[in-house]
Amino acid sequence: MKYISTRTKNSEKQNSAYVIKRGLAPDGGLYVPEEIPALTQGDIESLAKMTYPERAEYILSLFLDDYTREELKNAAEGAYSTEKFGGVAAPISKVADKYFLELWHGPTSAFKDMALQIMPRLLSLSLGKTGEEKDAYILVATSGDTGKAALEGYCDIDRVKIKVFYPVDGVSNIQKKQMASQKGSNVDVVSIKGNFDDAQSGVKKIFADESAKEMLAENGYFFSSANSINWGRLAPQIVYYVSAYCDLLAEGELNYGDLLDITVPTGNFGNILAAYIAKKMGLPLGKLVCASNCNDILTDFINTGVYDKRREFFTTVSPSMDILISSNLERLLYFTAGAEKTKECMDKLASEGIYNLDSHVMDEIRKDFAGYACSEEETKATIYEFFKKYGYLCDTHTAVAANAALKFEKESQNKMLVVSTASPYKFAPAVLSALGEEVPSDDFDALEKLNAVTKVAIPENLANLRSAEVRFTKVINPDEMINTL
Ligand SMILES: *Cc1c(COP(=O)(O)O)cnc(C)c1O
Repeated sequence: MKYISTRTKNSEKQNSAYVIKRGLAPDGGLYVPEEIPALTQGDIESLAKMTYPERAEYILSLFLDDYTREELKNAAEGAYSTEKFGGVAAPISKVADKYFLELWHGPTSAFKDMALQIMPRLLSLSLGKTGEEKDAYILVATSGDTGKAALEGYCDIDRVKIKVFYPVDGVSNIQKKQMASQKGSNVDVVSIKGNFDDAQSGVKKIFADESAKEMLAENGYFFSSANSINWGRLAPQIVYYVSAYCDLLAEGELNYGDLLDITVPTGNFGNILAAYIAKKMGLPLGKLVCASNCNDILTDFINTGVYDKRREFFTTVSPSMDILISSNLERLLYFTAGAEKTKECMDKLASEGIYNLDSHVMDEIRKDFAGYACSEEETKATIYEFFKKYGYLCDTHTAVAANAALKFEKESQNKMLVVSTASPYKFAPAVLSALGEEVPSDDFDALEKLNAVTKVAIPENLANLRSAEVRFTKVINPDEMINTL
């Protein structure tokens, strides 16, 4: 299996270890598999009898064929152990006539764990496979969920060091405490006086700084990133879609060949792109419903064929979806319109902030995708409704998807899988408010109150957080970031 860039026709072919180490292609494009491997009915039926780590080992072996089965087996077993996920890695809850695929039972209670628990292991192995002599130095700028999931994933991973920067007033107190109390001998956490953009542009500046690169090289390191454009983060996300179909087969909820629709709360387009690849492999999926909050650039794109980022940015109760440039959409452009058109669109996006696709390409895209957006009021009303009607508590991101799934319902007879991306406790104040409760000013009080009101169990990592020991307290100006290396 070889990987090529989304932006150059006949670009150089690389194997997966190289691509995972490298992240971005040299032309600025994203790496994509040259061909999508097939899953047959026989494959899916035998996967249905396996555990989650076994399914992960098999699916990943199709894409990462320069890793041995033994390496993938160990990586999957380590990443998706009962110890890390408290049971099955990606369980399904049936709520009325819909299925909720809960991807947040990992160590940080957000779906980023599904990829970030295994990708560090793949990166560490890639160093040996590519003959790399230096170790990886990962820099992350985070607005919340990614930083903690990356810290937890890279913690004490061989040949990797990680440093996370977050805006001091730009993350919730729970997120702050999650990061500041991180364990591990290879981790560092620094807060920035500024907003997320300051942290992000600071990291980009360091990546582009030749003297920083040299200084690192002299000390035996090279820069790397944990960003969701890395194929090593995307491939593990294909697994849970296959796994969900297998579980529904095994439980008799589906017969083989029944199409399953999927609704995904979307930000950077990584999660839903993984569903698209699963469908291309042959998994019997119907429509992929892209759910947006009021930053509805993606749903507009699916409905109009125009991607226009020249619009107001809203801060919402589902912050992990507050995005105007969805990087992974580039991979869909490549699969549907080819490398030349992708490069043209990405150049236009950079220079003019807008691009559009021809109607025949959009017709192709609309065979697989539908798009629905959800207002802040609708998000809150959906949380309220699902809890009052069915006793099912969902977080603000999942609620956007549940709302979109309800809007889509009339278009399809298929069963619907709604992707649930965070524990409701991760966004306790907004969830409490949606339930019509008074919200305590302290986030930890909000957490406990949500538990008292709903009786839904608090994930262990969040329950223990209030008393966790703080290890990192550094606060710096953005221009001092480089000095912390
Ligand atoms: C990152 C994130 C999303 C968005 O996923 P993408 O792959 O960026 O589309 C949705 N919900 C939560 C809770 C997230 O952390």
